[in-house]
Amino acid sequence: MDADVIIVGAGLAGLVTAHELTGRGRRVALVDQENAANLGGQAYWSFGGLFLVDSPEQRRLGVKDSFDLAWNDWRGSAGFDRLDDEDSWAVRWARAYVEWAAGEKRSWLDGHGIKLLPTVNWAERGALRAGGHGNSVPRFHIAWGTGTGVVAPFAGYAKQAVRDGLLTFHHRHRVDELIIEGGTARGVRGTVLAEDTAPRGVASNRDRAGDFELTAQAVIVTSGGIGADHDTVRRHWPERLGTPPAEMVTGVPAYVDGRMLGISEAAGARVVNRDRMWHYTEGVRNWDPVWPGHGIRILSGPSPLWFDALGRRLPDPCLPGHDSLGTLRHLRTDPAIKDHDHSWFILTRKIVEKEFALSGSEQNPDITAKDRRAFLKERVIGKGAPGPVAAFLRRGADFVTAPTLEQLVDRMNALTDEPLLDAALVRRQIEARDLQLANPFGKDAQVQDIRNARRYLGDRLSRVAAPHRVLDPAAGPLIGVKLHILTRKTLGGIQTDLDSRALGADGTPVEGLYAAGEVAGFGGGGVHGYNALEGTFLGGCLFSGRAAGRAAARQTG
Ligand SMILES: Cc1cc2nc3c(=O)[nH]c(=O)nc-3n(C[C@H](O)[C@H](O)[C@H](O)COP(=O)(O)OP(=O)(O)OC[C@H]3O[C@@H](n4cnc5c(N)ncnc54)[C@H](O)[C@@H]3O)c2cc1C
Repeated sequence: MDADVIIVGAGLAGLVTAHELTGRGRRVALVDQENAANLGGQAYWSFGGLFLVDSPEQRRLGVKDSFDLAWNDWRGSAGFDRLDDEDSWAVRWARAYVEWAAGEKRSWLDGHGIKLLPTVNWAERGALRAGGHGNSVPRFHIAWGTGTGVVAPFAGYAKQAVRDGLLTFHHRHRVDELIIEGGTARGVRGTVLAEDTAPRGVASNRDRAGDFELTAQAVIVTSGGIGADHDTVRRHWPERLGTPPAEMVTGVPAYVDGRMLGISEAAGARVVNRDRMWHYTEGVRNWDPVWPGHGIRILSGPSPLWFDALGRRLPDPCLPGHDSLGTLRHLRTDPAIKDHDHSWFILTRKIVEKEFALSGSEQNPDITAKDRRAFLKERVIGKGAPGPVAAFLRRGADFVTAPTLEQLVDRMNALTDEPLLDAALVRRQIEARDLQLANPFGKDAQVQDIRNARRYLGDRLSRVAAPHRVLDPAAGPLIGVKLHILTRKTLGGIQTDLDSRALGADGTPVEGLYAAGEVAGFGGGGVHGYNALEGTFLGGCLFSGRAAGRAAARQTG
């Protein structure tokens, strides 16, 4: 045997799994189709947002959170409705995960040297109903170092395990087949890909340089989701989200190709909830792309006005930062707009300066570099938009700026094949909204939402601009942003039990086969159900990778 355990995929889930195994003395072969520069996979590029419940950071900011509130939010978001079948393990994973997030998770992160920013963001604020989708309170804790800070300890452990003779990396090895003998996973076969020195995240070649086979007592699949393969995304696009867009931008590197799902299925694993996925409606084309079709997600505060392709304000709860999939559903199912793949933000300089954040480690250099002084200057006390946002304003193909609304709408119309926006219609809606600012109360849900957000200290300090008239020239210039649908996460995947053992069609484990991270729907084949609460994906890799590593260590002991 080449190792005790083979892990397919050196992303965060694979690295955490490897750490659990090598920490228990097991010999691990870690196989990845990319080169060594890509260690850590998507997590390295991530914003590093982590879902925690009732943390000291929340308490310091006056947030009262609890397991009960978080579990209510999770169930309201997930909407598990396949409990006898595809959701049967997912719901158990969900409860265990929320318990972990409300309990051991923070000290476990701390034990690995992962530190958190003192501010807690309020992501995915929800669908405006207590029992529905969304976070009732801020729970998005950003790691110092963003995603790179989450990956670093586990990449470090892996390199140490190589020095200790416990771990072998097999980079540029693409697994094409799982070896199953007598119903038990025994190893992997695949293609050795030609050497490629592409920098991290850049698509690499798929030229064949040879074949390989590795054997072990157990195989753990941690190969990520499907987000880079638009055809697969479209193939599994659910009817409830209307028609899939013809054009999307890509929120993940090209290696997030989903091939291992089919390969695992061919080996007897059951893939469930394939119709559940998590894409964003606030994607913009990266002016400085790393991977093909590279899009960046705007994480906006609640103030930009959101219009459809025809210039009609989106209905509630399609508000910025509230209900990602609800908004996606609206954009893809309203008969008048469903053939258009874009929507629009209109906002002011004042709003962009305070409310725009861009998801991704490279878009947040102050946090990624753990530079506290730059963080304070950029986001709390400084004037102007943070550097990366300012760069998009200057260079982003989807951004236009103008002193008057009529000029802005002209420039927005120039970004589409047909001039679909009517400045008079847009003006009427913005003026109606601006009239609502005369009183601290009123009937516009979005204006009330801004006031609500500013009652939370974290938002008031650094995330939500003071309410002002969008057409007030002192708040300008005006900014228009063309928004695309951005592919990102896969919510379904290989069904696993609480030990991350891959289950077969009959519900019993395929001996020796495990799955963790995104390929396992972050545990159970779909821990999020239909909707995610944000910051739950990295944590899902940590939690399910931990379970896989521990269980496989027991099996191979
Ligand atoms: C820009 C960005 C921002 C994000 N922000 C956040 C955030 O703030 N909070 C959060 O919770 N989540 C966030 N996420 C999501 C999160 O980062 C991912 O869901 C998570 O990192 C997935 O990890 P993984 O280990 O399961 O898979 P991946 O990171 O995709 O790793 C899978 C690995 O498997 C390899 N592989 C695949 N197939 C094969 C094969 N056949 N043979 C060999 N190797 C193979 C791939 O090359 C890859 O290295 C973000 C993601 C991105 C891209």
